[in-house]
Amino acid sequence: MDKLLKVINSPASGCGSCHTTTCGTCTTEAPKSEVRPTFSRRDLGRAVLAASVSTLLIGCSDKASTEKAVESAPAAPALSPDLAVVQQSKGPIITTLEEFYKMGPGPSSSHTMGPMRITYDFFQRVSKLPEDQLKRATALKVHLFGSLSATGKGHGTDRASLAGLLGKAPATCPPEFLDGLANNPDEVHKVTIGPTTLNLTLKDVIFDATKGEFHHPNTMTAKLLAGNETLYELEYYSVGGGFIEWKGYKPPDKGQPKYIFEHARDLKKYLIDDKIPLPKLLLANEMAISGKSEKEIWEFIDQVTEVMVRGVDTGLSVESVLPGPIKLHSKAAAMQRNLKNTAKGEAGRAVTRVASYGFAMGEENARGHVIVTAPTAGSAGIIPAVVKSLRDLKTSQEKIREGFLAAAAIGYLCKHNATLSGAEGGCQAEVGVGSSMGAAMIAQALGAGPKVVSNAAESALEHHLGMTCDPVAGYVQVPCIERCAYGAVKAWTAYCIASEEIPEERRVDLDTTIDAMSLTAKEMNSKYKETSEGGLAVSVVLC
Ligand code: SF4
Repeated sequence: MDKLLKVINSPASGCGSCHTTTCGTCTTEAPKSEVRPTFSRRDLGRAVLAASVSTLLIGCSDKASTEKAVESAPAAPALSPDLAVVQQSKGPIITTLEEFYKMGPGPSSSHTMGPMRITYDFFQRVSKLPEDQLKRATALKVHLFGSLSATGKGHGTDRASLAGLLGKAPATCPPEFLDGLANNPDEVHKVTIGPTTLNLTLKDVIFDATKGEFHHPNTMTAKLLAGNETLYELEYYSVGGGFIEWKGYKPPDKGQPKYIFEHARDLKKYLIDDKIPLPKLLLANEMAISGKSEKEIWEFIDQVTEVMVRGVDTGLSVESVLPGPIKLHSKAAAMQRNLKNTAKGEAGRAVTRVASYGFAMGEENARGHVIVTAPTAGSAGIIPAVVKSLRDLKTSQEKIREGFLAAAAIGYLCKHNATLSGAEGGCQAEVGVGSSMGAAMIAQALGAGPKVVSNAAESALEHHLGMTCDPVAGYVQVPCIERCAYGAVKAWTAYCIASEEIPEERRVDLDTTIDAMSLTAKEMNSKYKETSEGGLAVSVVLC
C-alpha cells in the first residue's frame, strides 16, 4: 500500500508522454490525491473506464484520471511494513551482485534456495549456543507456512530445509546429496551440533498452516527442542529471489552508492546528461556498496557466467523425465539435436536455438541441480540462454560482464519498486523481470546506448504484465520451464524492437511499467501467486 500511495502522490510533470505538443491535460504538478479508505472493484472499473475513454478521446494518457482510478484500487497488503524488503524500497538501491545472482540448488529461489539458506542460517545460529543448552537438545524442527506449505512439496522445500539443517551450504551442496534426500525419504541423518548429535529425517520439516495472518506469504519457523521445551526458536521469511529475513532482521551495514538511484529516471541524469556509461556507474556503485575490488567483482561475474553456461551445456546433453508427478519429458537436447536438419529456415533456427537454451537451464533447475537466480530460480533459464546466445555471436567476456551489470540494474529496479517474487506478484515478477533483464543485457553487450537498454528492458517487461504464477502440481516445471524459453526469445524480440525504433519516441518508459507491475501484483488474486489454487494448476489434470 505504501508503494501505491507513493505512486498516487508522486509529483508529476505532466503525463510524460507529450514531447512536442501538450494535450491540455498535463499539469506541472499532479493533484495530491486524498486517499479514501475503501473502494469497490466496481468503482475501480468505472474510474478506469472513464480514464480510458478520456485517453481515447484526447489521444493522450490522462495521468490525473489514471491516478484517480488507481486511487480507487482495493488495498491488498500482503507484506508487513517492518520487513526490510519493504523498508529498503524507500531509500537508494544498495543491492549487491552477490545478493542478486545467487548460486545454489533449484527449483525455486523462494521455496528451495531461500528455505535452505534459512535452515543453514539456523544451523549456524544454534551451533553458537552455549554448550549446556546444546547438551539438552533432542530435536530440530522446521514448520512451513503459507505458500511454502501449500507448494513446498513440489518445490523440494522439505529436502532443501533438511539439507540446511544438516549444515550443507546452499552454494556448494552437491545436487546428488539433495537427490539422495528426495530418493530416500525415510533415511535418518545425523547432525552434530557442539556436544550433541541429533537424528533428523524429512519428517522434521512440517508442512503447517497454508492460510493465516503471516508476516510474509513465505513464512517458516525453526526450533531447537529439548523434549517439549523450546530451547531456541526463530521466525524467518523467504522474501523472494533467495533473499531471507527473520523476526528483528536488520540489514547488514553497507557503503553508500557513489551514484544514488531509486528509479530509472534517476539514472537518466548520470547516463544521458553526465554521459557516464551504465557499466561504469554500476561497477562504481558495486565497489562502494560491497567494498570489493574491481577484480573481485569481475571474478564473481565470470564465475556466474561459467555456472550458467555449464548448466545450459549439461541441459542440452541430457534427456530425461523430470522429477515429480507431471512426468514431463525434457526437450532441450532434442531441440538442439534437430537443429542440424531442420527446415525451419533462418528465423525458425534462431528462435529454436535460443528457446532450447532456455529449456536446458530450466530443466536443470527442475532436476534440482545448481542454478543462478536471475532474478529467481523459476526464471533461471532466461539469462543463461541470453549469455549462451551472446557467446554464439562471439561476444567478448568483457561485454558479457557489462551485460550482467545492466541486467542487474533492471533487476534491482524491479526488486526495489515492485517485487521479484511469484508469491507476491505472479510470474510477471519472475519471468517478466528475467526477460527484461535479458533484454537489457543483450542491448548493453551489443553496444546499445542507455535509452535503448532501458527501452528494451521496458518492452520485455511490458509484455509479461499480468502473467500469473500457477505451477501445475506445485512443481516449477509447467509452465515455468517453457516460460524461460519464451522469456529468452522475448528478450531478443524486445532488443530487436528497441534497437530499431527511435528511442526518444517510445511512449512507455521503464519506471511506468515497473509501477504497473507493482500495481498489478497488488491487484492479483492470491490464487495466482504461487499457491497452485488457480489457472493451470487447477485446469491441468494429471493422469
Ligand atoms: S509460474 Fe513463474 S513465478 Fe510461478 S513458479 Fe513458475 S516461473 Fe516462478
